[in-house]
Amino acid sequence: MVPNYYDYASCQEAVALRQAIMNTARTAVRAAASMRALGPRGKGSRIITYHSVRPDGPGRRSSYVSPADMQAQLTWLAREYEVVPLSTITRALEQGRLLPASWVSITFDDGYMDNYQYAYPILRALNLPATIFVITGKIGRDPAFLTLDQIAEMHGGNIAFGAHTVDHIPLTSMPAAAAKEQVIRSKQQLEQILGEPVQHFCYPHGHFNATIESFVREAGFRSCCTENSGAVSNASDPLRLLRVGILGTDTQADFRLKVRGAYDWWINLFMMAQQGRRGIRGGMRA
Ligand SMILES: [Zn+2]
Repeated sequence: MVPNYYDYASCQEAVALRQAIMNTARTAVRAAASMRALGPRGKGSRIITYHSVRPDGPGRRSSYVSPADMQAQLTWLAREYEVVPLSTITRALEQGRLLPASWVSITFDDGYMDNYQYAYPILRALNLPATIFVITGKIGRDPAFLTLDQIAEMHGGNIAFGAHTVDHIPLTSMPAAAAKEQVIRSKQQLEQILGEPVQHFCYPHGHFNATIESFVREAGFRSCCTENSGAVSNASDPLRLLRVGILGTDTQADFRLKVRGAYDWWINLFMMAQQGRRGIRGGMRA
């Protein structure tokens, strides 16, 4: 069969045009974000989110951060901010104390094996605490995820663990009883592994609503992280903690702007558009 070169060419042109539009939009957002960051640090503490940390960086997925980028980001963070455990932020919230803009907490979602392989040595060298939200159904079953031994080792070394359900399915997309089961079982399974109460939960894919929130509260979690962007102040709801997601495509300047809160508005706008396109309920609109 003879290939249709005309169609191929017009397809390539369309791809190039889309790429050019994306690059222009990204440059515009970066310029606007840096203007927003010219002022003093925003109010409240910040929680940052990583997923996978891998040497191939953002090659296949934008959420893959390279160890070299993370090393540079966290070295800067350790110098400029006070990196605190998530429990420090939660306790200050419960006690109605001020949450200083100098505090940043580090979190990882999903519990990938690369967190042990690449992120843990960096965190240990810089003496930084972090919290990893694990999908309990993956532990010891999927080689891409943390093993029991790795969790035990990190648990003894300044790393806290939170629950991220058993199966990582958006809780708003399943029957209420099944969602409740995901919340409760993941807490029980993780408590059995760690031998202590598990305080923190994280909504898979950032989707939640008032019903899901009530399951998390009833299960006995003290805090819960969302994927919505923003700072944590003493007006924050502990079961709707705002964070900021770090991507492998972020430059060092992007990272610093994100920590200062300059990208919050853009990320929330992007998430609203994405959820609207997929017709997903929860998250931003919950
Ligand atoms: Zn997740």
